[in-house]
Amino acid sequence: MKFRKVRSAYIAIVLICMVLYFVFRNTHHYVVDAFSIIISISTLYFLFLLIDGAIHIQRNFFFFSHNQLPDDTEKKLVLSFDDGIHPLLTPRILDILHAHQIKALFFIIGKNIEGNENILQRMFNEGHTIGNHSDEHSFWFDVQSSKGMLAEIVSMNKKVSVVLGDPFKPKYFRPPYGVSNPALAKAIHKSGMISIGWNLRSMDTTMHSKEQLLQKLKSETKPGCIVLLHDRCEITAEALTDYIVFCKAQGYTFTTIT
Ligand SMILES: [Zn+2]
Repeated sequence: MKFRKVRSAYIAIVLICMVLYFVFRNTHHYVVDAFSIIISISTLYFLFLLIDGAIHIQRNFFFFSHNQLPDDTEKKLVLSFDDGIHPLLTPRILDILHAHQIKALFFIIGKNIEGNENILQRMFNEGHTIGNHSDEHSFWFDVQSSKGMLAEIVSMNKKVSVVLGDPFKPKYFRPPYGVSNPALAKAIHKSGMISIGWNLRSMDTTMHSKEQLLQKLKSETKPGCIVLLHDRCEITAEALTDYIVFCKAQGYTFTTIT
C-alpha cells in the first residue's frame, strides 16, 4: 500500500529533523531553520498526497482497485452503472443492453433493493455482474469507522442474497463517491471484497445534454476502459444506444468483470 510507505517516510523525516534539531539547537541556528523548513514542506506534501490519494481512486493509494481491464491493447471495454436500482431507468438501461447483447457491471445501493427485487433478479438472469455500492451511500459514508463501513458492505450483500438465493453474494465493491481512506481499506480487506474503480468518468450526473455526454464518452474511450455511468440518470439512458453504436463502429466489444 502506497499510504504506508509514504507515512513511514514522513515519520522518518520528522523524527530525523527533530533529533538533529535537539543536537544543533544551541550551536547552529541556520541549521535549525533549515529543519523547520524541511518539516513544514514535508507536512504540506504529505497532506497533499493524502488528499490526492483519497479523491483519486486510480492512484491506488490506500488500497488497490481495478481501474481498467488487464489488457489495455485489446479493443474491449466495460460499462459500469452506479447508484441503482432505479425503478424506471434501470429497466430502460437493461432493455438497451439486452437489445445489444451486452453484459455490464451494476454497483447497487442496498437500500434501493426493496421494492425492486424483480429488477435485481432480471439483472442477474440476464448475466450482468452485480456489485456492492454500500447499503446507504450516505453523504457521511467516508467519515464512518471501518466497522460501520464493513457493516454496510455486509448488510448490502445480505440483501442481494435474500433475493437471489443464499450462495450468491457480490464479490466486487465500488467505493461511494470514489473516495478512499484507511478505514475503507480495512473494511474492504475484512469483507474480502475486490474494489473496482474506473478510468473513464462520464460525469453523467452533472451533464446538461445528451450530446455533451456523448462527446465526452466518445473522446475518452480507449482500449481496456472501465466506464463509470449512473443508471439513476435519465441522460445516461438517453445517450446509451448512441454510445454503444459508436463503440461498435470503432471495433470495440463489451465485456463485464466476473
Ligand atoms: Zn455512487
